[in-house]
Amino acid sequence: MNVTQMYRARQGEITPAMETVARSEQLEPEFVRSEVARGRMVITANINHKNLIPMGIGLNARCKINANIGNSKLSSGCKEELEKLDMAIRYGADTVMDLSTGEDINTIRQAIIDHSTVPIGTVPMYQAVEEIEDPLDLSGRKILDVIEQQARQGVDYMTVHCGILRQHIPMAMDRTTGIVSRGGSLMAQWMQRHEKENPIYEHYDELLEICQKYDVTLSLGDSLRPGCLADASDKAQLSELAILGELCKRAWEKDVQVMIEGPGHVPIDQIEYNVKKQMELCHEAPFYVLGPLVTDIAPGYDHITGAIGGALAAYYGVSMLCYVTPKEHLGLPNAEDVRNGIIAFKIAAHSANIARRFPGVRDRDDEMSKARFSFDWEKQFSLALDPERARQYRMESMPEELRNDCTTHHCSMCGPKFCSMNISHQIMDTAQNQ
Ligand code: SF4
Repeated sequence: MNVTQMYRARQGEITPAMETVARSEQLEPEFVRSEVARGRMVITANINHKNLIPMGIGLNARCKINANIGNSKLSSGCKEELEKLDMAIRYGADTVMDLSTGEDINTIRQAIIDHSTVPIGTVPMYQAVEEIEDPLDLSGRKILDVIEQQARQGVDYMTVHCGILRQHIPMAMDRTTGIVSRGGSLMAQWMQRHEKENPIYEHYDELLEICQKYDVTLSLGDSLRPGCLADASDKAQLSELAILGELCKRAWEKDVQVMIEGPGHVPIDQIEYNVKKQMELCHEAPFYVLGPLVTDIAPGYDHITGAIGGALAAYYGVSMLCYVTPKEHLGLPNAEDVRNGIIAFKIAAHSANIARRFPGVRDRDDEMSKARFSFDWEKQFSLALDPERARQYRMESMPEELRNDCTTHHCSMCGPKFCSMNISHQIMDTAQNQ
């Protein structure tokens, strides 16, 4: 049984999901179908995720952003995670990954899927490890069982660490920060202790059968992504990327949709190279990067270091950015961190989408500029990525008597005498009357 969007696209069918994507991206439905058939676009839409609004991720669609939520053994529960989901969707996350590793994983995930109109991703390895006493007792069967269970629940895409092989482990031994992917480090330790090959790699064909059955998109994880600038673009990272390219082709042979995960921490001057290399080795499958962070010295502000790298990566052709919050490297993000991370990455993706000239993408910016010049404060708030914050900053910085006055032709930045836009209006009026 094969129900994937890719299978149907290759049969020549334009599905309702493709129609929806075509409308939101302002593309021709036939073009969307051909991109999905070619593997250059994925529509992450598990057949059991009933209230999903389908969305396309690919080189010829607008760059999307993902927000991670999920509890840990030390923090958070179902209520808090649903709050984070609401926050993520409200501020514009295009997909949400549930990375829970604590209590009640199944209940939390089902609640998240049931509430979410955006695609939900997971890392099944986390649950597989959580359910056994010792991570070294992990088996291919256990991972496949968890994958099938999550697929049945309606998970739209899954990160699987199937590209890291035994031969790669020595390549990471001289690194500054070793193997920083959680799933990747667990898998490397398992292979090292058991002296066996990666069990997900060995069971890859069975994994593809599950994906065919529910239309789960694979997000082929970069277990060896660099965790610092010093490790960027090294032999370990690029060797795994080549294997991901091979696994991508094997998935496409079975009509399974694929994204490729990418780094990580990358200096600005290596970002273009990383994107081009991925396209070459992975046949232009959608590239989904984590940040990337462009400096290592800003804990507390890594939503900014990541958004700088994300904007460049998106400009060079990355299809989706995984957000980073201010808590990166420091702790589990709360709802406010989720908000700050999402807005930072919305800015990154939107800036790149403008520069890549996708149809209609700049319209909102132009509307905002007009609203600014006409001092239409309410319109400015409604067009802002974060309307509440824009309103709050405007109001709290005005003198008490003008705090709720949205008619002033200035703000507190320059004040009434030095407001250059107000002066520009006067110049224009004079020029018109001369
Ligand atoms: S006062 Fe200055 S910052 Fe404020 S609206 Fe006028 S020009 Fe812009």
